[in-house]
Amino acid sequence: MKRKGLYSLLAILVAAIFLITGCSSGVSRPAPQERGKIKIYTTIYPLYDFAAKIAGDRAAVEKVVPAGVEVHDFEPSPKLVAGIYEADVFVYLGGSIDPWAEKLAEQLLKEGVTVVKAGEGLFQEEFHGDEDPHVWLDPVVAKTMAERIAGAIAAKDGENAAYYRKNLEELKKRLDDLDEKYRNSLLPAKKRDFVVNHAAFGYLARRYNLNQIAISGLSPQQEPSPKKLAELSKLCKEKDIRYIMVEAASSSKLADVLARETGTKVLVLHPLENLTEEDMKAGKDYFSIMLENLENLKRALNE
Ligand SMILES: [Zn+2]
Repeated sequence: MKRKGLYSLLAILVAAIFLITGCSSGVSRPAPQERGKIKIYTTIYPLYDFAAKIAGDRAAVEKVVPAGVEVHDFEPSPKLVAGIYEADVFVYLGGSIDPWAEKLAEQLLKEGVTVVKAGEGLFQEEFHGDEDPHVWLDPVVAKTMAERIAGAIAAKDGENAAYYRKNLEELKKRLDDLDEKYRNSLLPAKKRDFVVNHAAFGYLARRYNLNQIAISGLSPQQEPSPKKLAELSKLCKEKDIRYIMVEAASSSKLADVLARETGTKVLVLHPLENLTEEDMKAGKDYFSIMLENLENLKRALNE
């Protein structure tokens, strides 16, 4: 009997609390973030990785471009686009790497989705008159991108804002550490020139006082002319360049041809635009790949 009385007292208390809070808020529908985690959709890999590190376990992050797909040629299917409308926050870079996202972003804005153009104002026309989108490969510029992503997530999900800001601070510290490692390793390197098959490393080169010599253009699909190949071959001999750097071990027949012609070897320099399924499963991320890149750059610049 006594216990039953206690239960009914509890029930009354719970009902009273419910009534009080219900009245004071004046809103009967819970805010989206109270119904579950907010959803963040991102385009290219670095944006996904930064958003996931900021979101931690408090928000869900999706990558629109599937693993292993060549980012420069990607177009989302209508089904995929329809899915993005579920987003609370949509993060894209802007520029020539995710051009399909620009129009979509306008539509999403009208639907109340928070949109982040992470590369806004960060691009510089510096490769053959084209706007170079590969800004994330400069760890210092990457910090600005991370700040923009975190700002949008925190504004959308105010309840967890302090948590997101704490994760941002950790991410920025890791980017600072990475920048320091790059500076310490690359500034004293013997050579300043490195040859790549895809002109993705212009910002990285500028940050560390290096010179990127690209076989093809801003997109890895742009093929060089025989004249350009002959020039590069001559250049490698003149500058004593011993390595051609490619996106992945299997990525470029052209680099293999040039390597054979010039007596150079092939090394990987990953542009981080996308990861393969295998890389994702192996737990690789922006930082582990940037460190692998650094090891290979050190080799190319010192041997
Ligand atoms: Zn690229």
